[in-house]
Amino acid sequence: MENRRPFISGNWKMFKTGPEAVEAAGKISMIVADVLSDIDVMIAPTFTALAPVADKLEDSPVLIGAQNLFWESEGAYTGEISAEMIASAGCECVIIGHSERRQYFNETDESVNKKIKAAISSKLIPIMCIGETESEREEEKTFSVLDKQIKKGLEGLPSEELKSLIIAYEPVWAIGTGKTATSDQAQEVHKYIRSLLENIYDADFAGSVRILYGGSVKPNNVAELMERKDIDGALVGGASLDPETFSKIVHYK
Ligand code: PEP
Repeated sequence: MENRRPFISGNWKMFKTGPEAVEAAGKISMIVADVLSDIDVMIAPTFTALAPVADKLEDSPVLIGAQNLFWESEGAYTGEISAEMIASAGCECVIIGHSERRQYFNETDESVNKKIKAAISSKLIPIMCIGETESEREEEKTFSVLDKQIKKGLEGLPSEELKSLIIAYEPVWAIGTGKTATSDQAQEVHKYIRSLLENIYDADFAGSVRILYGGSVKPNNVAELMERKDIDGALVGGASLDPETFSKIVHYK
């Protein structure tokens, strides 16, 4: 039986200092507390805010995610941070392969694959981001782009190792643009992703993976998206920065 707990997450990108993140995290944990028995809620502050936010949320079920990691466990890699370091800072989750990282920091499907493996080794929940650009959609390449991102991103990983995997479908043309995919467009792609997982693995695994939608999710469009069969949650950027707005998204029902 398919039993996927809704997962609403906020990606704070490069916003908020440590004290600002702690304040916002504290507010969020209070105002979403009433739904946490039914919904997983995650926030992803910047690296420097992870440990103080984790301290603040010590007694809260709100999950904490990092926005990236490096796949080596330690070494001479100036400026990088490992999965183990992220976990020991108090994170349960990590966003991998966000389109901004693919666009500005040369993230590739190969690096995504290594990062997912590292996350799993440190028992972090990997949130693998995939999505097509506007021109790829116009050229009707959406499914082939997602095919490649998923197959390469998960290469060499058996389903037993991917029990916690979360996939975030984030059409690049909808991120930070105010253009949301319609719920029909998103559902069509989520269904495709699930069928692809079934082809690569099996129906049980495909039915268990949570697939989030991301791209200009706001309080006024989240409910329609969440009603769709294959949409299990949201990865929210801009609208997650303000606790009240994020709370409205979390309270989508
Ligand atoms: C994101 O950062 O993953 C995102 C979807 O951003 P926004 O909600 O601002 O489009």
